[in-house]
Amino acid sequence: MYPRNLKGYGQHPPHANWPGGAKVALQFVINYEEGGERSVLHGDGCSEAFLTEEPTRELANIRNINVESQYEYGSRAGFWRLHRLFTRRDLPVTVFGIATALDRNPEAVAAMDEAGWEIACHGLRWINYAEMPAELERQHIRQAIELHTRATGRRPDGWYTGRMSPNTRRLVAEEGGFLYDSDSFADDLPYWERVGDRDHLVVPYTLDNNDGRYLNTYGYQSESFSAYLRRALDLLREEGEEQPKMMSVGLHTRIAGRPGRAADLVRFLDYAAEVGDVWVTTRADIARHWRRTHPA
Ligand SMILES: [Zn+2]
Repeated sequence: MYPRNLKGYGQHPPHANWPGGAKVALQFVINYEEGGERSVLHGDGCSEAFLTEEPTRELANIRNINVESQYEYGSRAGFWRLHRLFTRRDLPVTVFGIATALDRNPEAVAAMDEAGWEIACHGLRWINYAEMPAELERQHIRQAIELHTRATGRRPDGWYTGRMSPNTRRLVAEEGGFLYDSDSFADDLPYWERVGDRDHLVVPYTLDNNDGRYLNTYGYQSESFSAYLRRALDLLREEGEEQPKMMSVGLHTRIAGRPGRAADLVRFLDYAAEVGDVWVTTRADIARHWRRTHPA
């Protein structure tokens, strides 16, 4: 049997029944990755070159101080700017936290915790897992859960590898103990997937409502990101009259945390905080709601 599900909910998705009759469940993710990226300091054979401010290449067996410091901006300054913008508006956040990155910045973790943010596990390292052998990936997942639990004081409810392998979902499901994983871009609603002998909940994520596009060739300019998000939210609010959906927004401390981009993001945060028919929430709360109202 062909293993992909190309049909999904199709023409008639289930009614989400979001709390308060909300037309959209709006979910902000802040990716916290700085200190988990590739570096010879972390035992890698090359420096990081992905999602950087200008085209660069991987340097073999040598540190790239230029790129390292771009990443450091995220944990040193960008995180705190985004933290201020979200806490002042009382908007909940799910952090996708790389375990080794969280472990290297206890002050940031304490601030996430104090703000009541969910901290989901974004893997042990910020690396590409696509070609990693399954047994090594399993070890990384176990170490990530262990380190995450030590760094944050609790076990993660959610999982997101990002650059996943064909084995990731199975390994995460076999590990167990998660409310959801987000390694999918396949839908506007959570969905159940049969993995081995268990039902596994997927809360899909987004690469279009994502500030990573400031840095890749698909591109956003600092005037168009908030406008794109607003159009997406407005369309979903319209659809939400009959078919409420969810909307993810993906942010990175070193990208949207830069002042020019943060200034644009503010426009969307203000808009999201002011429209009344939107449930701004965490991914864990979306997963809990779905498990209660749409059990497998
Ligand atoms: Zn990420």
